[in-house]
Amino acid sequence: MDFALPPHLVPTLERIDQLMAERIIPAEREVMERGWVGAAGLLEELRAAVKAAGLWGPQIPKELGGMGLDLVDHGLVSERLGRSPLGHYSFGAQAPDAGNLEVLHKWGTPEQKARWLEPLARGEIRSCFSMTEPENPGSNPVLLSCTAEKDGNDYVINGHKWFTSSAEGAAFAIVMAVTDPKAAPHGRASMIIVPTDAPGFELVRNIPIMGDAGAGWASHAEINYTNVRVPQSNRLGAEGAGFLIAQERLGPGRIHHCMRWIGICERVFDLMCARAATRKIDAEKTLASRQIVQAWVAEARAEIDAARMLTLRAAWTIEHQGFHAARDQVSIIKFYVSDVMMRLIDRAIQVHGALGVTSDTLLAHYYVHERGARIYDGPDEVHKMVVSRRILDRYGVKR
Ligand SMILES: Cc1cc2nc3c(=O)[nH]c(=O)nc-3n(C[C@H](O)[C@H](O)[C@H](O)COP(=O)(O)OP(=O)(O)OC[C@H]3O[C@@H](n4cnc5c(N)ncnc54)[C@H](O)[C@@H]3O)c2cc1C
Repeated sequence: MDFALPPHLVPTLERIDQLMAERIIPAEREVMERGWVGAAGLLEELRAAVKAAGLWGPQIPKELGGMGLDLVDHGLVSERLGRSPLGHYSFGAQAPDAGNLEVLHKWGTPEQKARWLEPLARGEIRSCFSMTEPENPGSNPVLLSCTAEKDGNDYVINGHKWFTSSAEGAAFAIVMAVTDPKAAPHGRASMIIVPTDAPGFELVRNIPIMGDAGAGWASHAEINYTNVRVPQSNRLGAEGAGFLIAQERLGPGRIHHCMRWIGICERVFDLMCARAATRKIDAEKTLASRQIVQAWVAEARAEIDAARMLTLRAAWTIEHQGFHAARDQVSIIKFYVSDVMMRLIDRAIQVHGALGVTSDTLLAHYYVHERGARIYDGPDEVHKMVVSRRILDRYGVKR
């Protein structure tokens, strides 16, 4: 067992750290203040700097202009990028494009790849993934109302979606729609590419997240699809393969998310320790002199390290033994790492006192915009249920 960083990756990680320190982190304040649309020019400059440094698209295959890293290496890079809210976007590794890119790469036809995948990989367009519906439980995704009915060579799509992240400004959505309501539950839906300028595609609003509706890539939209007509050649994979593809999309996606969350944890940990070390609570002593803060620091260190090891183990298992062998490990990191992150953000806010709930540090941004981590990609409770079922089955527990 080797816990060292892979030697071939070390120079890359060092160059990423340098770019993060010199360009990305100093740009944070302006992007936070002006928003993702207002600061679009600055964000493009950051992307150009990343491309010039040869660090664009760590997870994007080499033939598409990326670095082509495997899951473990990309996980380690993702942690570094996660230390800034601008990291993944600046390096072309942001959700939901990263997942959509993987789906198009594996399942796209040559025509779909030329039209959508190649400009997506170059960062010239953005995309979104449109599955969740306000009227149905996202935690049980086989319950979908959105339909795609065949008409000649086309599909006609009707549905109501929400939490389609990054829809504003996206060139296309990958829409999960029922193509055969009579099929077995997991064979009913298909993934279909819908250009966002198709007639009948209506972005109703960006949904406010604890009061912040965001903009552009940093937003979550409610969308109506009303008689949206697209050619059947826009379907990804076989008819009814939507859930199969979704499952494949989510496996590596959870590694990316968890390593990004660990990057956030490291940033928040730094903020918490720095504040504890400098905030005087009387003439002599700082907050760091208090045992309860010391316990928070030690506990956080242990939890972040445990989260990282669990996530890298899951990445390694997917890479070497396939997703099926890693199912439980992936569920475990989904609920464990999101929980570690949210507890740490909350403690760091507590250490900062009133400053913690202002927008003068990143903590409030993380508190608002990372809370969803315990809900998306399968709510934590569902992952716990899945893991415990497989364990308890071995003890003969009847369902
Ligand atoms: C920030 C954010 C970004 C998102 N981005 C996207 C996106 O880009 N595209 C997209 O399609 N969707 C997206 N989603 C939606 C997300 O996938 C769903 O919110 C998620 O699947 C949960 O569905 P739901 O909100 O309908 O909750 P529900 O299914 O109504 O569940 C509510 C709660 O019930 C509990 N629960 C549910 N089932 C069980 C169970 N079996 N046992 C015990 N407890 C249970 C859980 O605590 C859960 O949080 C996003 C969500 C968030 C918050």
